[in-house]
Amino acid sequence: MDKGTASISKKIQTIGYGTDGKGTEGKSLGRMEFEREAPKSNEVLLDILYCGVCDSDLHLLENSWGLTHYPCIPGHEIVGRVTFAGNDVTKFKIGDIVGVGNMVDSDLTCSACREGEENLCEGPHGPTLTQGGYLFSKGSDYNTFGGYSNNIVVREEFVLRIPEGMDPASAAPLLCSGTATYGPLKRFNIKPGERVGIIDIGGPGHIAVMLANAMGAEVTAITPDETKREVAFELGAKNVLISTNAEEMQKYSGYFHHILGTAPDSYDVTPYLGLLRRRGNITVMAMLGPFTGTLNNFSLASRGLSLAGSMIGSIAETQEVLNFCAEHGIRSRIELIKMEDINKAMERLKRSDVRFRFVIDSSSLQAS
Ligand SMILES: [Zn+2]
Ligand SMILES: [Zn+2]
Repeated sequence: MDKGTASISKKIQTIGYGTDGKGTEGKSLGRMEFEREAPKSNEVLLDILYCGVCDSDLHLLENSWGLTHYPCIPGHEIVGRVTFAGNDVTKFKIGDIVGVGNMVDSDLTCSACREGEENLCEGPHGPTLTQGGYLFSKGSDYNTFGGYSNNIVVREEFVLRIPEGMDPASAAPLLCSGTATYGPLKRFNIKPGERVGIIDIGGPGHIAVMLANAMGAEVTAITPDETKREVAFELGAKNVLISTNAEEMQKYSGYFHHILGTAPDSYDVTPYLGLLRRRGNITVMAMLGPFTGTLNNFSLASRGLSLAGSMIGSIAETQEVLNFCAEHGIRSRIELIKMEDINKAMERLKRSDVRFRFVIDSSSLQAS
């Protein structure tokens, strides 16, 4: 197997777009040069081709979770080409087109990791996130630098294979939004014709509509945004429910077998419980902050409903969703941007002014 040179001893020079390290919250992004650790024998080095722009990137940048260590470099929907594979790497070789999602490492020894759920790693620091994650090699120094950069070093267990023939730019959002929605949809165990509602038709939601449709569900897009009606049908929704219309909400009372909530901001889950059939399930993807409104147990208990949470997907699920999308011809809808336009893109992301995912063309970094 062609592995290029046997090892790289020098640190890797990297160009990224990040905050410049003054610790100012909400700072805009600018060009920043830094060094990555040289790849170890079980790691690969990628040249990054594309990187998706997720809402979490904005949260990292603005310290919305109170966990950001500055400087930070966001980016966790990374598609790249392998330029070096360490001697112990068995799955990848130079030239492979691969992906990196939310995680670059975990302890791989806890019960969650052993059962293939690294995303729920129970080790002392959980999984090492691709951006702003805990660096095991650096002790207490939290801060992995993400994919708004021209290269990244990742251990092979956390590298995904981009299926042959898949457009690499539109594959990028599958590495976070895709796997984050695929996991809960898979756990719904959808039977043909079952009615599935997807709340919020944004980055994750638009992929969820396509996935649920391909899984055989009758899909309803649930959105307050009338302008998304047409595109929701194009994505495969059979119905569109405008959530701010009380009459329509009433019409769908008790209708759904399953609902997946994909909105990133806090909302009141109670009105959606009323849309579920008896024994229905609503899974709510991680939102920023607590539910608004008061969740009364009686709303769940009286009809045997269940409420679940979901965040990032496991490595196995991420590979599965890539393969599933290749098989079903599912392609996320993206707007390709240059690295130097990232601050404008972030402003638009705050207003949800994107159909449906910004993806950075990383070749623009070299030129910037
Ligand atoms: Zn994300
Ligand atoms: Zn673990």
